[in-house]
Amino acid sequence: MAHRPSTYPASLYRAQVGRRETYPPIEGDLSADVAIVGAGFTGLSTALHLSEKGVRVVVLDACEPGWGASGRNGGQVNAGFKLEPGDIVRILGPERGRRMVELGDRAPAYVGEIIRRYGISCGYAHKGTVRAVRKPSELDLLKRSAHDWASFGVPLKLLARDETAAEIGGGDYAGAILDGRGASVNPLAYSLGLAAAAVKLGARIHGDSRVLRIAKAGAGHWALTTGKGTVKATNVVLAMNGYVDGAWPGLSRQVIPVFTGIAATARLPDHIASQILPNRQVVYESSWRVLYYRVDSENRLLMGGPSPQRDTGQRDDYAYLVRATEHIFPGLRGVEWDYFWNGQVAVTKDHLPKLFEPAEGVIAAFGYNGRGIAMGTSMGRIVAERILGSREEDLDIPMKPADAYRMKSFWRPAAELSILRDRLRDRMAGLK
Ligand SMILES: Cc1cc2nc3c(=O)[nH]c(=O)nc-3n(C[C@H](O)[C@H](O)[C@H](O)COP(=O)(O)OP(=O)(O)OC[C@H]3O[C@@H](n4cnc5c(N)ncnc54)[C@H](O)[C@@H]3O)c2cc1C
Repeated sequence: MAHRPSTYPASLYRAQVGRRETYPPIEGDLSADVAIVGAGFTGLSTALHLSEKGVRVVVLDACEPGWGASGRNGGQVNAGFKLEPGDIVRILGPERGRRMVELGDRAPAYVGEIIRRYGISCGYAHKGTVRAVRKPSELDLLKRSAHDWASFGVPLKLLARDETAAEIGGGDYAGAILDGRGASVNPLAYSLGLAAAAVKLGARIHGDSRVLRIAKAGAGHWALTTGKGTVKATNVVLAMNGYVDGAWPGLSRQVIPVFTGIAATARLPDHIASQILPNRQVVYESSWRVLYYRVDSENRLLMGGPSPQRDTGQRDDYAYLVRATEHIFPGLRGVEWDYFWNGQVAVTKDHLPKLFEPAEGVIAAFGYNGRGIAMGTSMGRIVAERILGSREEDLDIPMKPADAYRMKSFWRPAAELSILRDRLRDRMAGLK
C-alpha cells in the first residue's frame, strides 16, 4: 500500500511548499552509526553535519520532517537568546557565557550559509530584526541589550518612537532596537531542504516512525524500537524539543511545551503591503505580551503570538491576533485572513538551550525558547562535533541538563492564566 504522509497543520507554509518528498515509515531492522529521534532543525541539522563527514545516520520522526515547531514557526531567524548577553555571562561564567553569546551572534548567519551551501529554496531574506517595546519604562531593557551587545563588538541601533513607527509602518511603540543580523525563511521549506540535503549525502529519514523505546543492545549499542521496525546504533540523538514524549523517560520534565500561534492574512494589495514594514524586517515585541510578525514574499502579514494551549486551526481561537493586528495596523481592518495554526516551543527554566548526555552514547539537545531556527541549526553542528569526538570543553554550548520542572502538571492552566493576565494588561493599556 502506498505510504500516506502524516498530516501537517494546514498552515500557509504547507500551502506554499506544495508537493513534497514523502518519507515512508521504517520497516524491519536497520543499523547505523547514529540514530536521531526527531526531524526538526535540531535532528536534521545534526544529520546533515554528520552525513557531510560520511557518518551513517538514520532519522526517525513520529510524523514527517518539519512536522513539529520547525515547520510551523514565525520564520524569524533572530540572533541571540531570550536572555541578554550580560545575563548569560552571569549565569554561565565569563568563558562559557562569552562563547554562548558569540554562538547566538553568529547563528543567523550560519543559517544563511547552510541555505547557500545546499541551494535550499525557502524564501530566505536577510533584512534585519526590529525588537520593539510598548512602554517607555521598557526602554531601559533595550538600552541594556544594546550596551551588552556593544561590549561584544555588535552594534545595534536604538530607534526612538517616531523612527520605530517609520520602520514598522504602524503601532505605537515607545522604541525599538534595529538588529541587522535577523533574517526570515519559510521554515517548512527550510526543514524540507535540510532533509533533502542530508538524504543526498546518504542519511536515511523515516516519517511516521515514532520511537517507542530506547534500550541498551549489548556493549556500545542502542536499539530504538518503533511500531514497525528497529534501529541499532552506536549513538542516539534525542531531538524532540517541545514535542518530547516518553521515549527517553524523564526528559519531558526538563521543558515546558508552550503553544504559540500564527494567523496569516490573504495577499495584501501592493499599496497596502508596501506601507507595512517597508524595509521588510521581522518584528518581535519585548513587552508583557510577545507578538512577532513580518510580511512575506507574497505580501501576507503573518502575526504570531499567544494561542490556546492545545492544537487548533479554528479562526475563533485567533481572534486576539486579528485584533492585535488591527490595533497596530488600522489600515488592515477588514482584510481577509487565510490561515491559522499553532505549535509548541520548548521553554527551559533558565531560558537557555540545553545539551547533555543522559547516558553514554546518548545526546539530548533542546530548549531554544523561541529561537530555534538559528540555534537549532547551530545545535546540530555542535551535536555532530561531539559525536565526531570533540571534547566537552571545546563545544560552544556547555553540557548540562536542564533543571526539571517539579510542578509540571500545572503548566497548562498556569500558561492559560498568564495569557488571560496579559490580555487584562492589554485592556488596561487601552488595547482591545
Ligand atoms: C508557532 C511557533 C512560532 C515560532 N516562531 C519562531 C521564530 O520565529 N523564530 C525561531 O527561531 N523560532 C521560532 N519558534 C521555535 C522554533 O520553531 C523551535 O525552537 C524549533 O523548531 C525547534 O526545533 P527542533 O528540531 O528542536 O524541534 P521540533 O521542530 O519541534 O521537532 C521535534 C520533532 O520530534 C518528533 N518527535 C517527538 N517525539 C518523537 C518520538 N518519540 N519518535 C520520533 N519522533 C518524535 C516530532 O514529531 C517533531 O517533528 C516558534 C515555534 C512555534 C511553535
